[in-house]
Amino acid sequence: MDVYGLIGNPVKHSLSPPMHEAAYDELGLDARYVTFEPQPDEGVQAIESAATLGVRGVNVTVPFKQDVLAAVEPTAVARRIGAVNTVDLSSDPPQGHNTDAPGLRRALEHHGVALTGRAVVVGAGGAGRAAAFALADEGMTVDVANRTVERATSLAKDVTESDTPGSATGASLDSLSTVLADADVLVNATTVGMDEDRSPVPANALHDGLAVLDAVYSPVSTRLLRDADSAGATTVDGLWMLLYQGVEAFEFWTGQDAPLETMNSALRARVDFS
Ligand code: NAP
Repeated sequence: MDVYGLIGNPVKHSLSPPMHEAAYDELGLDARYVTFEPQPDEGVQAIESAATLGVRGVNVTVPFKQDVLAAVEPTAVARRIGAVNTVDLSSDPPQGHNTDAPGLRRALEHHGVALTGRAVVVGAGGAGRAAAFALADEGMTVDVANRTVERATSLAKDVTESDTPGSATGASLDSLSTVLADADVLVNATTVGMDEDRSPVPANALHDGLAVLDAVYSPVSTRLLRDADSAGATTVDGLWMLLYQGVEAFEFWTGQDAPLETMNSALRARVDFS
């Protein structure tokens, strides 16, 4: 049997096990997906131990996405984002991917969102970095707005100095209304809205013609997405990004096309949409 898993802390409520196991069952693969919860300073050790035990691949989540860079050979995408969320342990050294970036891009494309023009990314942590690079790679001009402005400026500099066709500028949250006025795509990559009824973006800054993806998926229907819907914007919930980052990981590990509908149903069956 092939074993895959998730390394994070906490991981108890993760939606990844049912999503991946539904795919194995659908394709008749002799595989299981389990969770590992090492102490916060044990990320590298956890990767090494999993490799020793013959685990074929792991996803990596908070707080280990940056730390595990030291235990893997990162792809170019993972290196410039500075975070790894998928590790292929069947190669030596293990290969570290970042599937949050293609996951975000594919979630937007699934909803027919054209990745051209201007984008606003709110947040400059791991998800914000993945979003900014993913959108700049499509040639978009990206405004990164973050509570800590220095992080936004630093991310924007990394994007602009990379070989991506797009470019980025750092800004404070105060400038959101201004930068959103002529934006085509908005991504919330902060934790604001997670398990709370708050939005990081003023409702009156949202408009039709905008596509809004909220990386937060708990709750699925966030305040931001409800505000965006009321403003006539296209909305994409965080489960779509979660789905597609999982699809990418599944395909790296197994070399097979992921059963998208099965994985999507397994995810959505386990969340409360109320
Ligand atoms: P992170 O690295 O810890 O970054 C957190 C971000 O949130 C930072 O930009 C931080 O700003 C900002 N923030 C935190 N509290 C804030 C507040 N009160 N007001 C304004 N900004 C605030 O976290 P992450 O890994 O990027 O994750 C961010 C979100 O994306 C989480 O909700 C996570 O679940 C979600 N996510 C979803 C997916 C998916 O597949 N759907 C994938 C990855 C992440 P400062 O820099 O000022 O601290």
